[in-house]
Amino acid sequence: MPDDCLFCRIVAREIPATVVRETETTLAFRDIAPKAPVHVLVIPKDHYATASDVAEKDPALAATLLTEAREVARGEGIADGWRLVANNGAPVGQTVFHAHLHVLGGGRIEFS
Ligand code: AMP
Repeated sequence: MPDDCLFCRIVAREIPATVVRETETTLAFRDIAPKAPVHVLVIPKDHYATASDVAEKDPALAATLLTEAREVARGEGIADGWRLVANNGAPVGQTVFHAHLHVLGGGRIEFS
């Protein structure tokens, strides 16, 4: 794990987060600056810089992340309508370079 990776440190419980779901390979926690009433991040516990990297290097894990995003939506009561966002790279605004899926919904979404 890269020592300076924020989300690796959340996985290691070195930095607090509000965890909503956890599996052997994934973690889901609330975004610290929510852009919607429900805004949860789903991440792999192993370090990949982008979701695109996960898809390339471990397609089964990529599928698990998508399934977990759906389970988060169900658990948050927004299964009837939710948005999935993955920023892949600085040019589209990725700021944390540990792969993550944004699960958004429950009302107005302020995600640009
Ligand atoms: P992105 O811009 O796609 O890289 O998204 C990174 C997300 O991580 C942003 O929505 C941030 O609000 C969120 N974030 C940053 N630090 C934390 C943290 N300590 N706990 C939870 N979410 C965080």
